Amino acid sequence: MPYLFLPHTQLQALLDAISQAGFAIIGPQVREGAIVYDWLNTAEQLPWGMQDVQSPGEYRLRATKEKLAFAWANGPQAIKPQLFKPTESLWEVTRDEQGRLAFQEKKPETQATALFAVKACDIRAMLIQDKVFIDSDHPDAHYTARRKNVLIVAANCTYSPANCFCVSAGGYPRAEAHFDIAMTEITHGLVMQAGSATGESIVNTLSLASATDAQIKQAQQGIEHAANSQSKKLPLPNDGPLRDMLFNHLDHPRWDDVAQRCLSCGNCTSVCPTCFCSNVESKTALEGQHSEQVREWGSCFTQQHSYIVGKVIRPDTKTRYRQWLTHKVGSWHEQFDSSGCVGCGRCITWCPVGIDITEELTAIHQEEKA
Ligand code: SF4
Ligand code: SF4
Repeated sequence: MPYLFLPHTQLQALLDAISQAGFAIIGPQVREGAIVYDWLNTAEQLPWGMQDVQSPGEYRLRATKEKLAFAWANGPQAIKPQLFKPTESLWEVTRDEQGRLAFQEKKPETQATALFAVKACDIRAMLIQDKVFIDSDHPDAHYTARRKNVLIVAANCTYSPANCFCVSAGGYPRAEAHFDIAMTEITHGLVMQAGSATGESIVNTLSLASATDAQIKQAQQGIEHAANSQSKKLPLPNDGPLRDMLFNHLDHPRWDDVAQRCLSCGNCTSVCPTCFCSNVESKTALEGQHSEQVREWGSCFTQQHSYIVGKVIRPDTKTRYRQWLTHKVGSWHEQFDSSGCVGCGRCITWCPVGIDITEELTAIHQEEKA
């Protein structure tokens, strides 16, 4: 489909068209000093004139001179919580007065939802989670139902804060596929492109003019700027060499070094758009007549995560951090045929002590070269 131009003044019309097509909309907005995704009803809720400044262990918003809606890169959440819920009831059991038990599966939600202003790295992360939750021997009914009913409106990045490294991780700040509509913001509006029949039918209701060559060029330059300004890098390609380097250094002294700094808090696993571990807890009513089985996000940084038949097999921070990193960019390849890192930089930003995945990998690689 050709590139079209949507003036900022028509963003509300786009949201209305998405809504009229039957989708509830979840999109970016500022809340408590961060950009988060939540129900979006009006274009006024978008993070106008806001940009995120990030460094290891630091995130803040600053006002920009130009009043743009998508001048930011990301916040603590990806779209993961919209598809793989942080907490979710899976089934319940009730005891009646005769003592008989009735088991009932909790049905997944089927509300059609548009995820608005999704970043390219988060689309890549979603495709990785699709492999975990859909392309498995036991597909997850809840994730699958939500994923089937989702419309993706991508917002290409024209800005990279200091922790982004999607290019080095094998991606790019532009969504290349798997979107229904893609937008790149330029002065006064957005260069748009439909990526599916549904996206095209929504865009067609707006009677937009074609984008001019100058507008397409400005959009392209914005994306290139985001790519070229990324300074963080993985020390080796993310499609195999990094994995081999790590597995050759399971006893490297750097694991002891990082364990001195890591708090085992699990923030990195919560914000990572590809981490998928979970626990199922029984929430039993005090009167003993009802129990609900609730799935909650887990983390490989907890003691419980590696408890196997009377023994915690990763009893300290060193073995937990090593497990996280060697899985993320190492054994993930064997399991899912790709790396588990898309280079969004969230684990660096939201680590309370600023541990930087690229620095840790580089340190191990440097000593290998020495
Ligand atoms: S490991 Fe860190 S940089 Fe990589 S995808 Fe997860 S949060 Fe993003
Ligand atoms: S690396 Fe940072 S965010 Fe992750 S568990 Fe350690 S201290 Fe927490």
